Amino acid sequence: MRAWSVAVPGPVEAEGGLRLVEKPVPEPGDDELLVHVRACGVCRTDLHVAEGDLPVRRPGVTPGHEVVGVVAGRGAGAEGFEIGDRVGVAWLRRTDGTCAYCSRGDENLCPASRYTGWDADGGYAEYTTVPAAFAHRLPAALAHATATPLLCAGIIGYRALHRAALPPGGRLGLYGFGGSAHLCAQVALAEGATVHVLTRGAAARQLALDLGATSARDAYDMPPEPLDSAILFAPVGDLVPVALRALDRGGTLAVAGIHLSDIPSLRYETELFYEKQIRSVTSNTRGDAREFLALAARHGVHATTHTYPLSRADEALRDLKAGRFDGAAVLVNDLS
Ligand SMILES: [Zn+2]
Ligand SMILES: [Zn+2]
Repeated sequence: MRAWSVAVPGPVEAEGGLRLVEKPVPEPGDDELLVHVRACGVCRTDLHVAEGDLPVRRPGVTPGHEVVGVVAGRGAGAEGFEIGDRVGVAWLRRTDGTCAYCSRGDENLCPASRYTGWDADGGYAEYTTVPAAFAHRLPAALAHATATPLLCAGIIGYRALHRAALPPGGRLGLYGFGGSAHLCAQVALAEGATVHVLTRGAAARQLALDLGATSARDAYDMPPEPLDSAILFAPVGDLVPVALRALDRGGTLAVAGIHLSDIPSLRYETELFYEKQIRSVTSNTRGDAREFLALAARHGVHATTHTYPLSRADEALRDLKAGRFDGAAVLVNDLS
């Protein structure tokens, strides 16, 4: 089969770092499914893998962790899926299932966790594999390409919403409005929240209003009313005190990013007193994914997508880096 391989991590503008190569069709392990890839979303984490911002965990790895495909084979111990079933493959690939965190239901914190497209070959290829226990069923209403961004951006946004402890019908502030935030906003709105978006891009503010946000202002502005919950999607530590000041008494701020620039010192009186809380968000559990995918189907949550043939994945990553498109890039398998 043909597959993209991170031969030498480095700038994606340079030739040869990410190469389309021949690899054998992978053999599924005993508890794994072989998946014929139909579409694979392009996540910013793929860029970090291709450019070496994340350390190499598997030399020559095939990136891609927002995969929609069809089961084409299975190991003897792989349960729950039949040949021909449609499946989703996401970032979280394996946990040990036995550590203290897994045992109490926090598998997102498992120190032994493994990830698709980083520890194991992912979906920038004609075929990939996934442990059956970590494969996701996809609602029939979702088309292949439009379902892909839900598998990372969507699930993470949903986990952040959960961590922000939004009360029913509550007032939610979203700081930053990219892929994750615009999916999170759709769920919150469908569940009856009032949503205020605080972000610097004029196009993003317009998208927020089009989706049903009550207000859209600059990132450093105050929202028109105090917030019960806020989620910081922008990786900007300077916005932490800004968002904390926008919270009502007892409100919660969830920080959704993997990376955040340094947080300036906080003023206890205005930014933490009255039982305001700040929480981080780390990866997700399979439960988060199942809940989110069901909600997404029920509420018609959809991502704005920009498609590329799989054979031009390098171009998609260069365009992502340069900010040449709106919405989420999706690779559609044109190779088989
Ligand atoms: Zn991702
Ligand atoms: Zn564990």
